[in-house]
Amino acid sequence: MEFAAFASRATEIEAEPADLETVSLVRDLFLDAEGDLSVVTRFVQGRVFPAWDERKLDVGPNTVYAAIARAAGQNVDAADVEARLADLGEIGEVAASYDFGGQRGLAAFGAGGGEDLTVDSLFDSFETLAATGGDGSQDTKLDLLFGLFNRASPEEARFLARLVLSEMRIGVGEGTVRDAIAEAFDVSVPAVERALQVTNDYGLVAETARDEGEAGLAEHHLTVGRPVQAMLAQTGTAADALESWDEAAVETKFDGARVQVHWDGESVSVFSRNMEDVTAALPEVVEFVESACESPVILDGEVVAVDDDGEPLPFQQVLRRFRRKHDVAKAREDVTVELRAFDCLHADGEDLLDAPLTDRHDRLQAVLESHVADLTLTDDPETVAAVETEALESGHEGIMLKAPDSTYSPGKRGKRWLKRKPDVETLDCVVTGAEWGEGRRAELLGTFEISVRVEDAGEFETIGKVATGITDDELAELTALLEPHIQSQNGKAVALAPAVVFEVGFEEIQESPTYDSGYALRFPRYVAVRDDKEPVDADSLVRVERLAAAQ
Ligand code: AMP
Repeated sequence: MEFAAFASRATEIEAEPADLETVSLVRDLFLDAEGDLSVVTRFVQGRVFPAWDERKLDVGPNTVYAAIARAAGQNVDAADVEARLADLGEIGEVAASYDFGGQRGLAAFGAGGGEDLTVDSLFDSFETLAATGGDGSQDTKLDLLFGLFNRASPEEARFLARLVLSEMRIGVGEGTVRDAIAEAFDVSVPAVERALQVTNDYGLVAETARDEGEAGLAEHHLTVGRPVQAMLAQTGTAADALESWDEAAVETKFDGARVQVHWDGESVSVFSRNMEDVTAALPEVVEFVESACESPVILDGEVVAVDDDGEPLPFQQVLRRFRRKHDVAKAREDVTVELRAFDCLHADGEDLLDAPLTDRHDRLQAVLESHVADLTLTDDPETVAAVETEALESGHEGIMLKAPDSTYSPGKRGKRWLKRKPDVETLDCVVTGAEWGEGRRAELLGTFEISVRVEDAGEFETIGKVATGITDDELAELTALLEPHIQSQNGKAVALAPAVVFEVGFEEIQESPTYDSGYALRFPRYVAVRDDKEPVDADSLVRVERLAAAQ
């Protein structure tokens, strides 16, 4: 395909505001791309290489400005280009605003030397750019780019400049390309989506859809050594998790850097969340996986910095190691890193993306004996709180809540993985009631009714009950503290005179008819007794109203 034809289609796509029409235009472009389909699929997204491919053009904006200036003629320098950029706001417009007459002019008179740019030849030039490194390479890149701009029409120059700087800006996102592939080659969107997830290669998937249809797409699998996008989490609450699923899988949220570890039976590759190869920076991870794994695997996890006792260190310490290219051995002496694996995408030749989380975790435990995150399955808020308290006390960031039956969706930030929002605020509430426990806790008060102060009225209105976050020892202390204030008893329930103030954590405040105040705390948790506060110092209903409104 001539690059001029690609550029003219790109102009049309850029001008099209409607999403559906955009998909149709991209579909037509794919249908006409023939042998260049793979490159066109990427160019249209402003990508030169597939996402898993490590190669980069490594051309800075200044080199592009200089190349444009040189191609524009003797009277133009890089400062002029920058001035136009300040004016026009975008490099494509700037490139299109010059007339790179030179070679094209000569070519028009049959003087030769100015063959038209094609998608294919441009991709070759980009490969050369990417392969050019070392001393003086920016000059070589500048020469090469100059040669390209020199042959470009204004429309071609617009997209050439944007491609080189990876800013295509024609409104074609990943979803558009996915839908356009499906439309063009009459295959289903989910089939395209799945093939994209496992290959991370739009060009390959487009070609497969065209040449082999849905059956061919289904043949794509994960490739050990080729990274895929990580599954991501949304912010959520424990209440969300326990209300949406029968049970939640609760895990420590490690404060480190995300890694995907590939072991092909011979060598280990470690990739960052952006699929950058960070293997060389993390020899401990490589050594650990080499010694632990017997057959090829793809693992997902977090790399954390640890102290001499294996306790986690803050995230900043990991950064001193991650992506480091020089003096790795020295850095390793200063900061030790360890893998905390929490998922297994592939084991023993089998892709596990469609297996439920709990099965993937079992496989993970089968391939790694240590360094695996514990997974706690529960439907009990108290257990969630206990896992969280333990995680925080051990110096971790918090907890993740995952749907036990969730499949692994690369690149998706869905509702199946939740990172629990830490409590932003606490409320100081007066304890106005409690219940005697059962069995071994029959002598202890528990399930405390908590209330907030109604300003100036000297009254207290209920807002919830706390039973979570309290150890047996604490229950004994709280019973001793509250028992003298019992006013009446009805079955197991006791009414307490307002005397003791609890600091209470919560996830959210909801309007609710259940309690007198008209509000209820979601996932309320005991934090501490406020010895320093009297009931008159407790938080007021007005503060509750304000917090609820600010959510
Ligand atoms: P955030 O960076 O706040 O968006 O939180 C999501 C990130 O938490 C993930 O991308 C992981 O890097 C990290 N993380 C830490 N522990 C876990 C875990 N057990 N499961 C999933 N992600 C985790």
